[in-house]
Amino acid sequence: MKKVLITGAAGFLGSHLCDKFLSEGFKVIGMDNLLTGSLENIEHLVSEKNFEFQHYDVTKFVHVPGELDYIMHFASPASPIDYLKMPIQTLKVGSLGTLNCLGLAKDKGARMLIASTSEVYGDPLVHPQTEEYWGNVNPVGPRGVYDEAKRFMEAITMAYHTFHGVDTRIVRIFNTYGPRMRVDDGRALPTFFAQAMKGEDITVFGDGSQTRSFCYVSDLIDGIYRLLLSDYAQPVNIGNPVEITINQLAEEIIAMTGSNSKVINVELPQDDPKIRQPDITKAKSILGWEPKVSRAEGMAITYEYFKTKIN
Ligand code: UDP
Repeated sequence: MKKVLITGAAGFLGSHLCDKFLSEGFKVIGMDNLLTGSLENIEHLVSEKNFEFQHYDVTKFVHVPGELDYIMHFASPASPIDYLKMPIQTLKVGSLGTLNCLGLAKDKGARMLIASTSEVYGDPLVHPQTEEYWGNVNPVGPRGVYDEAKRFMEAITMAYHTFHGVDTRIVRIFNTYGPRMRVDDGRALPTFFAQAMKGEDITVFGDGSQTRSFCYVSDLIDGIYRLLLSDYAQPVNIGNPVEITINQLAEEIIAMTGSNSKVINVELPQDDPKIRQPDITKAKSILGWEPKVSRAEGMAITYEYFKTKIN
């Protein structure tokens, strides 16, 4: 039986990865310090004999007894509000956390996949974003703590790959949504649902003409799993290329929830990317992957989830 360590296991993506690996017959060690993760996301796994939870901070020395086949490093605050509140923890988990995981991977001969992000492209000057684009990031701006941690993460992962021969994979994750997304993480999608469902004003930052491309979580997890099992060590974008404006997102959520909420425009945060859309040519050709879940389907499932979280 293959064994996988998943950091950030109690988070949105980490918990879905735990489900995926368990369903594929793996033994799963889920690790999380519960800074932004929640035990609620993995409470359905407590009785699983192949699942073990470690309440632990990956920025400290990591020890896993016995053999280990795979490491998925997904621990990190991941929404702009979270990493603005926790800048040092964000930098540490991307740097020290990645270093510890790479050391463990080297020691165990494990293959390691790191969760990078479309944020490495910053406020992009190339559209859609291909993996060859180096990005436009402000290192000392508010988002720099996340963007640069992830860029360092990619750099050190590549160094362990080329210098130590560690088997590594890099996924660049674009905006993703679905059940277990935190309602209060400050992201547009859960915030708009919460505001619409409570009849509060919908807070669109700036004029709402900025764009994002939203991928449903099951599609993302499928792409990541395929990348792990592939033999491709360069970064791969995984995301849904259907691009919409934030105004459009707000309108869709108002219509879907039948809300009377009004859109109000508030100040656009510094360095907020104006456009974002993944070029998924590589994922298609190398992994045979493309998203299958339409926004209408994915949003309907997500709305049902938020109904259980928002009164
Ligand atoms: N946004 C917004 N209202 C909110 C939260 C976010 O208009 O209450 C905007 C934000 O400025 C950005 C977009 O929605 O342009 C997506 O933001 P999110 O935090 O979801 O993710 P990002 O892609 O910026 O990491």
